[in-house]
Amino acid sequence: MTDTLTVGVLGTGIMGAAMARNLLKAGHSVRVWNRSADKAQPLGADGAEVAATPADAVRDADVVLTMLFDGAAVREVMNDAAPAARDGAIWVQSTTVSLADVDALGELAARHGLVFFDAPVLGTRQPAEAGQLTVLAAGPADGRAEAGRVFEAVGSRTVWLDRPGEATRLKLVANSWVLALTHAGAETLSLAEALGVDPDRFLELIEGGPLDNAYLRAKVGLVRGDKLSPAAFAVTTAEKDARLIAEAGRQHGVRLDLVEAGAERFRRAAGQGHGDEDMAASYYASFDK
Ligand code: NAP
Repeated sequence: MTDTLTVGVLGTGIMGAAMARNLLKAGHSVRVWNRSADKAQPLGADGAEVAATPADAVRDADVVLTMLFDGAAVREVMNDAAPAARDGAIWVQSTTVSLADVDALGELAARHGLVFFDAPVLGTRQPAEAGQLTVLAAGPADGRAEAGRVFEAVGSRTVWLDRPGEATRLKLVANSWVLALTHAGAETLSLAEALGVDPDRFLELIEGGPLDNAYLRAKVGLVRGDKLSPAAFAVTTAEKDARLIAEAGRQHGVRLDLVEAGAERFRRAAGQGHGDEDMAASYYASFDK
């Protein structure tokens, strides 16, 4: 095994494109495919081979990386790609999917002789571009060295979990926190404005104390600075994650009222035309129009 891997990247949206570029920077040979070809083409200038089909992207690859919208998209794309992948290739599945999807995708991998890694990531557009993601990874011990080379290229930290499914569990828990912070900031900002309170007075009030929070400041800053596009994490993607978290909670007997309410805020913001904007656009769900 050489140090240089051939990696087939399926999905070059916000996250997948950044991850592909960092794989190239790390010296790996990268093939990319995206449903809308216009998002894959620019990677050609960075040295990636742009594939016409998912199967072309993964043929003879050492590693297949999926970074698509959701589990349904991964199933659809991998049903096309997996038969072309070589027996024993590593499949790094980084799309945020449901717990049921992790099981189903693991079975799909097994049917095609692929070595499955449940490997969702923490971090958004900027950390993805900087190669500073945190990878939550679970997969068999004998594939870890190879998968780990991919994680080193796209991230600055890998958190290893024992079995597939455990990484996605931790990811859903982390995202429930991220989404709660996002909505709390959005609602607090809208309330301050509605009550005639200068949001800066609130931010000064909590500055440096236990109530202060860098993420709150970042998300509130995006709304106030009119910087919701291009999104780091789009409203429609966040709404999908909220649905996955709510479903996981229901399946495991916990009520997640904040997650359900947050999903509704994202749906409302998307209905108002903010679906492609950063999820901080939850702010707009505070208003009727
Ligand atoms: P994105 O920019 O919207 O990219 C989504 C990708 O999925 C696009 O390449 C899209 O193709 C593709 N896709 C959607 N439906 C498809 C289908 N049915 N068949 C084939 N391709 C399909 O989203 P992203 O922000 O990169 O997120 C990707 C994944 O990472 C999601 O699961 C998300 O939850 C997770 N994630 C995101 C972040 C973040 O901050 N953005 C952080 C951690 C994890 P088209 O270009 O043709 O639409």
